[in-house]
Order: sequence, then structure tokens, then C-alpha cells
Amino acid sequence: ELRWNHQDPDYLPPEIDTSKPSIARVYDAFLGGKDNFAADRAVAAEGMRHFPDRGEGARQNRAMLFRGVRFMAEQGIDQFLDIGSGLPTMDNTHSVAQRVNPGAKVVYVDNDPIVLAHARALLQTNDDTRVITADMRRPDTILRHPQIEGFLDLSRPIGLLMVAVVHHLGDDEDPHGLVDRYKAALAPGSYLQLTHFCSCAPEVRALEGVLLKMLGTGRARDMPEILSFFDGLELVEPGVVHLPEWRPEQPVRTPLGLGGVCIAGGVGRKP
Ligand code: SAM
Repeated sequence: ELRWNHQDPDYLPPEIDTSKPSIARVYDAFLGGKDNFAADRAVAAEGMRHFPDRGEGARQNRAMLFRGVRFMAEQGIDQFLDIGSGLPTMDNTHSVAQRVNPGAKVVYVDNDPIVLAHARALLQTNDDTRVITADMRRPDTILRHPQIEGFLDLSRPIGLLMVAVVHHLGDDEDPHGLVDRYKAALAPGSYLQLTHFCSCAPEVRALEGVLLKMLGTGRARDMPEILSFFDGLELVEPGVVHLPEWRPEQPVRTPLGLGGVCIAGGVGRKP
């Protein structure tokens, strides 16, 4: 884990290279956030040139993340492991979960050290929330992390979030095998919320091309492949769908636009 104490809010630790785009900051640029640099904005601008959704896909993803967290919290889940959590935004997993279950414990995991830099400041006063820098490709390191052991009780149900992160794994990295290792570590009654860039429209392939070229990552997969990440779990209604269709709070306008179809996902419960 990286550690620093610095009073200057604009201080960036030296391991953060702002000359190259980072996934977390490009996503922040798609969301219209402030925590991004020219290299990140260039990727987002090129992406939106090929995929003119004005950031709608990212916003829909963020909104579905919160609907899922609220749903799990309402089922009694009071501990969450948010892998590939991204930069903090207006609302965040811990605030949504703790609104339903005060005292709910949340651990954020991201391999981009800028997430820790930003989240630290935000979480200074929240004893129930932690953030660690680790790579999801090392499940044992994450599940046995000293910041997690003794904080989350993995013998009880948790909510595992892998939201818009698994598409950053290549096929050669065995994404299904990796998700299976996390599922195997969950206690019965736990939930997995997973969303994934979906090859449902030809324009998504164009966006995928931009991301792979400029960022080196960001693979679209088809619906059956996304569905199979939930193998062995009971799918919560309405199953794996385009994100605006997952338990919407307001009637959904159809047909869905580009931003509505570019990511699919759902929530599953471990029996
Ligand atoms: N989960 C958030 C959401 O859906 O709003 C953020 C999604 S953002 C598109 C993907 C995040 O996953 C980025 O912050 C990136 O740094 C992180 N990430 C990518 N590969 C990762 C890895 N191998 N291990 C941990 N985090 C990773």
C-alpha cells in the first residue's frame, strides 16, 4: 500500500504519470469530472468522436452501480468490496451503502494510485471505509490484504462489486477464471454486481478500437459472455440486461440510445 501525508491538495505522488492516459482518469473525463489531464481528455474526446453518447454510457453505469449497492444494502448486506472502484465522484459506494445501513463497511480497491490519493482525503473521517491500491488479477493478495482481514468478515455475506472493470482484462488473462476465484471466496448469501462493456452495437466496436489503441485496454464482450460471469449464482431480476433496464427508478425510454446499450450487467446472489 502506498502511503503519504501531504497538506497540499494538488500534490501528486511521483508514481502518478499525468503524461499518459489512465483508465480511472479517462473514465472521470467521460463522466465530466475534474480529476483528469490533457492525455486523458484526448482519449475521451477521440472516443466520443467515434461514439457520440456524450458520456451517457459512463453515467448510466454509475447510476446502475448505485441502484445495485442500494438493492444489496436493502437485502441486509453491510460489507462491500468494490474492485476497480475508480476515482470518487459526487456519490460513492460507501455513501449509498451507509445511507441504508449506517456503519456498513466498504473497501475500495484500485490499481491506479491516483484513486488512493483522492479517496484518502475524502475518507479521512470515515472509519468504516478503506481504500487500497492492489491489482484485481491477484485475488489472493486482495482477499488476504491486511487492510481487509479483520475489517471485512468474509465468513459472512458481502457485496462484491466488479463494475466496469473486468473489460480491462484481456482474454489471455482468463477473466472468467478470475471472477470464479472471487466467487469461490464469497460466503453463501453474498452478491456479485458486475457490469461490462458490451458489443451490442457496431459503434461500440469503434469505441473499443479507440480505447485499445490509445489506452491499451477496454474490451467489449457479447451478452452470453457477460452472462457467464454469473455462472453458479442466482440472478436478481431482471437478470443481465443493458444498464438502464436494471431495476430503473423511472420508466425507461426505448429504444435505448448508444449510451444505454454500450454496457450490460446485473447482480447475482451466491446460493
Ligand atoms: N467501478 C467504477 C464505476 O463503475 O463507476 C469505476 C470504473 S472505471 C471504468 C475502471 C477502474 O478499474 C479504473 O479506476 C481502473 O484504474 C480500475 N482497474 C483497471 N484494471 C484494474 C486492475 N487490474 N486491478 C484493479 N483495478 C483496475
